Amino acid sequence: MASWNADTPITYLKGVGPQRAQALAGELGIRTYEDLLNHFPFRYMDRSVLYSAGHVEAGPSEVQVRGVLSQIQTQGGGPKKRLTAQLIGPDGSVELVWFKGIRWVEKSLKPGEDYVAVGRVTDFQGRKNMAHPELETWNSFQQSPVQGLFPVYSTTEKLSSMGLHARGLSKLIQSLFLEWPAQGGDWLPAAIVQQAGWASRNECLRIMHFPSDPNVLAKARQRLAFEEIFLDQLVFAFKRQASLHQQGGLVFQAVGQAFNQFYAEHLPFELTGAQKRVLKEIRKDTASGLHMNRLVQGDVGSGKTMVAFMALLMAIDNGFQGCLMAPTEILAQQHFASLQPWCEALGLRIGLLTGSVKASARKPLLAALKTGELDLLVGTHAILEDPVEFKQLGMAIVDEQHRFGVAQRARLRKKNAISPHILVMTATPIPRTLAMSLYGDLDLSVIDELPPGRQPIQTVHRTDHNRLKVWGFLKEEIAKGRQIYIVYPLIEESQKMDFKDLMDGYESICRDFPRPQYEISIVHGRMKSEDKEWEMGRFSRGETQLMVATTVIEVGVNVPNASVMVIENAERFGLSQLHQLRGRVGRGADQSYCILMTGDKLSDDGKVRIETMCRTNDGFEIADVDLQLRGPGDVMGTRQSGMLDYKVANLGQDQQLIEWARQKAQSTVLDDPRLERPEHAALRMRFTDYARNKMAWGSIA
Ligand code: ADP
Ligand code: MG
Repeated sequence: MASWNADTPITYLKGVGPQRAQALAGELGIRTYEDLLNHFPFRYMDRSVLYSAGHVEAGPSEVQVRGVLSQIQTQGGGPKKRLTAQLIGPDGSVELVWFKGIRWVEKSLKPGEDYVAVGRVTDFQGRKNMAHPELETWNSFQQSPVQGLFPVYSTTEKLSSMGLHARGLSKLIQSLFLEWPAQGGDWLPAAIVQQAGWASRNECLRIMHFPSDPNVLAKARQRLAFEEIFLDQLVFAFKRQASLHQQGGLVFQAVGQAFNQFYAEHLPFELTGAQKRVLKEIRKDTASGLHMNRLVQGDVGSGKTMVAFMALLMAIDNGFQGCLMAPTEILAQQHFASLQPWCEALGLRIGLLTGSVKASARKPLLAALKTGELDLLVGTHAILEDPVEFKQLGMAIVDEQHRFGVAQRARLRKKNAISPHILVMTATPIPRTLAMSLYGDLDLSVIDELPPGRQPIQTVHRTDHNRLKVWGFLKEEIAKGRQIYIVYPLIEESQKMDFKDLMDGYESICRDFPRPQYEISIVHGRMKSEDKEWEMGRFSRGETQLMVATTVIEVGVNVPNASVMVIENAERFGLSQLHQLRGRVGRGADQSYCILMTGDKLSDDGKVRIETMCRTNDGFEIADVDLQLRGPGDVMGTRQSGMLDYKVANLGQDQQLIEWARQKAQSTVLDDPRLERPEHAALRMRFTDYARNKMAWGSIA
């Protein structure tokens, strides 16, 4: 057995001197054998596909081209200096070009030699051209131990100039594997490995770098991806276990008077099957004696507010108070406005607490909360502040979860001696796998059914050329008594250009929709909150027909008579935001429309976003596309403490694997809560190490 291991410094490896070691550490963070092993190829090239210089075509992917090197020369001077050479085949040639590292490259080229060049072929003024190719002599290409799929590694300019371009890195890794044991390295429970039919860990590592064929590669990749996910899911499984043992949850003995009376006398509509199912899940949690931590996902318009209210009634019926927290002032006000009449009918007392509630009103409100005179509190983040004390908080509901962090959930939990039951609701459907990876300590409920009688919103894409027609259409809709939103991007509410766009847009809309025939509201983040509220009020009472606004109306606003959503510069919005905005219409019985206005030119991503919106109304499908386009960190708005920094696993593609890893983690912890069994010895070591690093990360993040 050799004396090195995974932590052996990379300098011990043949071919790595102090200079290369320093560069590897600085550029790619590679310091140890293990770091190098974990620098996986970002893609693979098929070695068996080889073009002759005359036959290759220009194209977007890298190719291998064979030919004889000749006519090496430098051209131009100063910053325009470049090195060119011809790679000549029997039937034509490709020009090779270098703009950087010219001296080093020039020295290494052997004219007259048979070479294989790897790179992207472009068409430059009718000539086939390859910039900064990687070159290998035909002899060495033929003798290479790597056949089949060839690994392509990410590297940097600096490393390339030291011979550590993708091929150089591959050579290093090859020499590492000469020393690395072919088998072993396993820490996953053998039963899981057997069930999946995976090769040993070390073999999988080798296959990742030097796969013989795509199927073998896929299987090896699967094991390494599973391992990454499994460790995170174990963290969740232990967290859940700990919270079960630490403290029991508040027990809601019975569904009581308020709930039953509301259900029998005041419910304005029949609940959907999905609403009933989720309420049953909540009822079961709150009666169980365990602490509820549940995430309810439901698309815009699926009726989460009613579920929230009825869950709050369960708390009140058992002598507790409840609170409902929303991310914006407008939304909190709207929730308050929906809940207040129901509360009145039931003789319950409800309060509203936001940042703009004045001290004079706040004082009696907080007092009533503390004595328990108040049954329900609706509000914004203001609810989290320390002076806000409940007598007995039993149920805390957070609407639009993605705007709140884990830390805020923890603060809510501390609002009562025994943690209140926590329900988080999100209208941006998160793909199930992402939810499980981010909120693995939450149980999931899904409202996957819209109230009956809704017609799907029709979504179309229009450009400025169509503006006259679009305006004509809006006038027709207004003539039918409908109302219209026109939304401008103003992501950072301080951006001057955006603000000017909004104001210019508003002015031209005022010209095209003149008074007194048309009344127009405008709402944006620079307005005082009472002015915003006043304008929103006019629009929701139907006194104005058009609402020109920024994304402040994105979340939750409910005006059922509004039937058209026009989104200006739609290409500048993210998918989930577009979907949220669209959800502002289609709330009544009328056919509703969403019109996405864009310029003529769209980026590739922009095109996909617009096409996706026009194709589907399904929030979960949209969330999946969003995840593919942007990656999990951006979909969630923040990078969550290294949680989703997977090297191999891909949350968009590995959905089944995530489900499986979650099940296995749960059953492992259930079976052997302290990982004491001999068959878990290696797992215990690996997990301890992982959890320690993770906690350290969490406390500084
Ligand atoms: P969201 O899930 O987006 O928060 P809301 O709770 O605002 O949705 O509900 C959207 C609209 O649907 C509201 O006008 C609400 O009154 C109505 N609604 C909710 N549940 C039902 C139902 N079961 N039947 C009919 N209408 C419903
Ligand atoms: Mg809502």
